[in-house]
Parts: sequence; structure tokens; C-alpha cells
Amino acid sequence: MADVQMENAETFAFQAEINQLLSLIINTFYSNKEIFLRELISNSSDALDKIRFESLTDKSKLYAQPELFIRIVPDKVNKTLSIIDSGIGMTKADLVNNLGTIARSGTKEFMEALQAGADVSMIGQFGVGFYSAYLVAEKVIVTTKHNDDEQYIWESQAGGSFTVTRDLNGEQLGRGTKITLYLKEDQLEYLEERRLKDLVKKHSEFISYPIYLWTEKTTEKEVSDDEDEETKKEEEGDVEEVDEEKETKSKKKKVKEVSHEWALINKQKPIWLRKPEEITKDEYASFYKSLTNDWEEHLAVKHFSVEGQLEFKAILFVPKRAPFDLFDTRKKMNNIKLYVRRVFIMDNCEELIPEFLGFVKGVVDSDDLPLNISREMLQQNKILKVIRKNLVKKCIEMFTEISENKEDYAKFYEAFSKNLKLGIHEDSQNRAKLADLLRYHSTKSGEEMTSLKDYVTRMKEGQKDIFYITGESKKAVENSPFLERLKRKGYEVLFMVDAIDEYAVGQLKEYDGKKLVSATKEGLKLEEESEEEKKKKEEKKAAFEVLCKTMKEILGDKVEKVVVSERIVDSPCCLVTGEYGWTANMERIMKAQALRDSSMSSYMSSKKTMEINPDNGIMEELRKRAEADKNDKSVKDLVMLLFETALLTSGFSLDDPNTFAGRIHRMLKLGLSIDEDEEAGAEDADMPALEEEGNEESKMEEVD
Ligand code: ADP
Repeated sequence: MADVQMENAETFAFQAEINQLLSLIINTFYSNKEIFLRELISNSSDALDKIRFESLTDKSKLYAQPELFIRIVPDKVNKTLSIIDSGIGMTKADLVNNLGTIARSGTKEFMEALQAGADVSMIGQFGVGFYSAYLVAEKVIVTTKHNDDEQYIWESQAGGSFTVTRDLNGEQLGRGTKITLYLKEDQLEYLEERRLKDLVKKHSEFISYPIYLWTEKTTEKEVSDDEDEETKKEEEGDVEEVDEEKETKSKKKKVKEVSHEWALINKQKPIWLRKPEEITKDEYASFYKSLTNDWEEHLAVKHFSVEGQLEFKAILFVPKRAPFDLFDTRKKMNNIKLYVRRVFIMDNCEELIPEFLGFVKGVVDSDDLPLNISREMLQQNKILKVIRKNLVKKCIEMFTEISENKEDYAKFYEAFSKNLKLGIHEDSQNRAKLADLLRYHSTKSGEEMTSLKDYVTRMKEGQKDIFYITGESKKAVENSPFLERLKRKGYEVLFMVDAIDEYAVGQLKEYDGKKLVSATKEGLKLEEESEEEKKKKEEKKAAFEVLCKTMKEILGDKVEKVVVSERIVDSPCCLVTGEYGWTANMERIMKAQALRDSSMSSYMSSKKTMEINPDNGIMEELRKRAEADKNDKSVKDLVMLLFETALLTSGFSLDDPNTFAGRIHRMLKLGLSIDEDEEAGAEDADMPALEEEGNEESKMEEVD
């Protein structure tokens, strides 16, 4: 055991969140403590990956320790468990930063998850796996040596601080990291060989470096007294005498010999090299877990090989849930590990899979790429482009397979529908295939969601287009005035209520030869009408021409034009947007983007057309008043109120809610027959008039 030299120890405080995390780990009861070993082995494996990758271009990096391994040493005398690797190691700065002073984004998220009842085994997903050591240890010592620095010792019993010391006379590692856990009294089971072997088999079987366990073997041997001394010298292990009685005349005695050896406890043959039909579901699950640190099994797997001009093997997994930071833009995620002829090259290889499939996890092992390939070379690489194309194809196949099971697909869709939609937006080649995977609630789907394919089978005779409405939520759109006529005619309308739908549908444009048409935009054409209907419509248009003109005058630049509507049946009016401009929903989304470029909004922001319903009583009354007196104040105010209400029902936001509220209050007073003059409050005086009341004329003007 390395002696910690306190003379040159530097003390550091744990960053506040890490400190909190540590107390949570130490002071809460968890049943699943065993996962600490998986986490530490996984860290070792990552560290080994790093040095192996570096060594591909510079062999000398391995010089200090050519062998790549993980070793586990239980020490019953000192009650310690050590995990040693010959990985990349940590410099002093790495130690200070990685193990205590810089919190990962996952620290807080993990604590929140824990407090919400998450299992401690989820720790690896949040990037704070190291601290799981404190599930079983009261003190942890990390000895580490990086090629670029001296050997250092990190030590902590939690409690707010850790120390870092230059290791001057401890056992030299050459290169790598040794983590020594001083086990709590009630955690000594982790010194048992059987337990450790089982744990490695359970959680770390597919680690691609040899994992050795320091095992103890006791054999009984008869030796004659005179041989005894020599044997002792020859044996490597300790020799312990158990039977000192010299019972035999031949001067023989029985000794128990305790010898130690490194036992290899994992198979390292990569699972992807085996035949899919010979691999059980459990084996895939355990490989998936060791690959991803996930505590749950995968939802789906695709194991395949591509042969011919180009050869590679791959296993792809879809997780059951989205990770907590799926769309964290600071961190471009990609979860495919690239191997070249069994040698791990890198993860996070951006060229391997498009961003929208960043949630798919797995491995790719190519026979054709050079071993010493660098990130720069990958960008140009043709082989990689072909691999990528194949991976996308296989992913879509896998999703389609998931869709054959309703329950699974519901899970999948909930977690990853945004990715599919991003794919529709970005991947023109696979757009049509991805569109088959979309599901939406609709005016006819009830609790379930419908695919576009099923929608098409339900289309009415003569229906040419697929109708949809975008908005903030299902609730906000299902009773929208825009749907009134469509519903009455029996046309199904899809509810697109994800922000990303707005982008996806903008690219998709059509499905199965049918145009996707927004119910909230101009140019909504329903089927041809009879001559009689046409005539009736023309008459109505003519009858409301004056009102439309008056309304446009009152509303000014707020609207492009005012026309008689074909889409509303019950509501008095609605606001539609141009076919190629933003919808109300898009305007809402853009406003919510804090850093957006505001130059776009001036020409993209919705040009609104006010559509009025000639069959609505309010419009009829308004028409009469407007025709009687164009300058009727009540007409002016009612038109403003209708406009503002239409903004709301059409999914826009109000620029000036107070004026709107003022108008509503005025209406309430009218309804309650409260006389304006009796109310002497100063606030009231600011309110706009609803009805012409002579003395308030000037105030009316202010409001407009
Ligand atoms: P994660 O491994 O998910 O990044 P951890 O909390 O487990 O998070 O580890 C924090 C960091 O400490 C790692 O990212 C790595 O840089 C460093 N580290 C941990 N264990 C080792 C090790 N055995 N060898 C080298 N570096 C390590």
C-alpha cells in the first residue's frame, strides 16, 4: 500500500454539487451498491481505450507499460479492494478537475433523479460513476500515472475535501490508475472471489480488455522436513504451516500452501463476431448494458454484417428511454463505437451516423479502414460514407420492426419521435421512409395515434389533400375554429403539436403523392361545390363586402385583408396566415428562441388574413351597423375586440393584453349593467369605450 506522504499534500474542496452528491451517496440507503464495480471497470476500460487509440499513431506511448489490462485485487487483511488499469492515467490537473472540482452537467440531474426515486445504478448515465465508489468505501485512494506527468495520489474520505500528493516512494505503476477502496465494515462481501467473479460476469463480461482477479489457492502438500526450506524459497506465494505435528516417521509433514495467481475472469471475444442466431437475448442485453451503462435492457437490437466490396459488422441498439441530455446542443452526441479489425478506434465519430440518430447505440467493426486512421482522415473517407448509409438504412429497418409491436412502438415514439422528425427535416433521401414512422393524434384518432398511411386509407372520396393543424398542444388545436368546416365535412385533420413538427412538415410537403395542407393557412380548398352552393357563396360575399372593407380600414396594417371565410362554421372569425409564411405556431416558436436572428421575423412573420363567418350572428349585426354608419364607434371597438379574440383562438399571442382586458372589462360592465359614470375609479377612466358615449370619444382615439 502506498504510503501517503502528508508533507506535500495539497487539500482541495469538492465542488458544492459534488459534495452534495457524495453525501447523498453515503447517507442514503441503496440496495444496489454492487454497481460500483461496473462503474470503476468501465472507467478503466475507457482509460485503456484512450491509450490504445493514442498508441495507434505513436507506439512509444505504450512504452512505460506495454500490456493493456484491468486487475482486481481483494486484500482481506487490509479490507481493501483495488482496481488497477494500465490505461491513460491522469495528470495532476486531471485528478483535481475530474475527481472533485469541476462538476459535470449530470451531477445535478443525477441528484434530482435520485431524489425522484431513481435507482443508484443509473449513475453511469450521468457521467459521475466514479463517486459510486463511496457506496461501499469509507475512504478511496486513487494512485495514477499519466505519460505526461509524475505519479500522484488522490485521497478522500468524502466530508468536503480531498488531497492530492506527489507519490514519491509508492509502488510505481508505469502508466495507469489504481483505485483502492477501504471497504465499510458491512461491505466486506466485495473481498470474496466468488462475489467478484459473479459481478464481473454480470456487469462487465464484454469489456474488451482482460480482467484479472488476484485469486488465492490453497493446496495441501506433504513435504519432508529437509525439503522444506528449499520449497519455501521456490514458491511464489506465501507458505503457511498448518500442521506442525511431525507424526510420521519418515519426517514428512503436511503443509497448506497458499499461492496467488491472476485468473482471467472475462471472455473478450467480441460478441459482434459471433453468429446472431447463436446469441441469446440475455447476452445482447448484457452487452448493451456494458456498452452504454444503461440499467435497463435495450428496446430493440439489429445485428448484421455487410459483405462484398466493403466489409463490416455492426450491432445497433435502441434504448428504452431518451437520455436526459438528448438535445443538449453543447454536446454532440453519437453513441456508435468504431472498431477496426477488433481494435477500438473511437467513439463519437460524427461521420458514422447522422445527428438525428444520435440516440442509437452500438458498435461498428470495419475490416477496410486503416488502423491508424485519424479524425481528420475520417471526414473524407469514402468507406465511412458507405458505412453511414448502411447504418441509416438498418436503423430505419429496426424502427419499422419496432412499429410492428404497438406497445414497444409507443415507448419508442414517445422517446424518439423528435429525432424522427429531425430526420425528416434533414435527410431528404430517407424522408419518405421516415414519414411512414410518424404518428399523430387527429380529429378521428381518439386516444390512439395514427400513421399517415392509415390516414390515407380513411380519406374521403374526392379528398385530395392531407389536412393538418399545428399548435402548442392537442388541447389548443382540437377545438380550433380552423377545424370547424373540415370537421363538419368529415375530413380528418392531424394534430401536429411538437415544435419540430412545424419544421418537419415544412420539408415533407407531401406523403404518398398527397399534399400536406395546413388548416390555418391561406388557400385551404375543400372539394368542388354544386352550382347552387357557389351562387349562395357569391351572394354572401357580396353582402359582406362593405363590412370587409370597413374592417380592413379599422384594422389597418394589422391584417393583409379581410375576406369571407370558407373554413369556419361557428366562430365569428379567425386569422389565417400566408401559404408560405410562418404559421401562428411558428411565430410562437420563433419568439421563444432567445437568440434568434430578428431580421428573419420581419418577412417571415405571419401576414394575417382575417376571415369572417357570414353565418355568425355577431357578424350579421356588425354588418348592419357598419352599413348604417361607417364611423359608428361601437363597430370600431367591436372589430378590435374580434381581432384580438381571433388572435388568441388562432394561436397568436397578444402584443398588448392590457388594452384587450380593458375592452373585456367594459363588456362585463355592460353585461352587468354597471353605469360607467357611477364608477369613479381612476383606472376606469383609462379604459376604452365600447359604446359611443359622447364624452369618451377622445379616449377611443387613444386606444386605436
Ligand atoms: P465518466 O467516466 O462518466 O466521465 P466518472 O465520474 O466515472 O465519469 O469519471 C470522471 C472522470 O475521471 C473520467 O471522465 C476520467 O477522465 C477520469 N477517470 C476516472 N477513472 C479513471 C481511470 N481509471 N483512468 C483514467 N481516468 C479516469
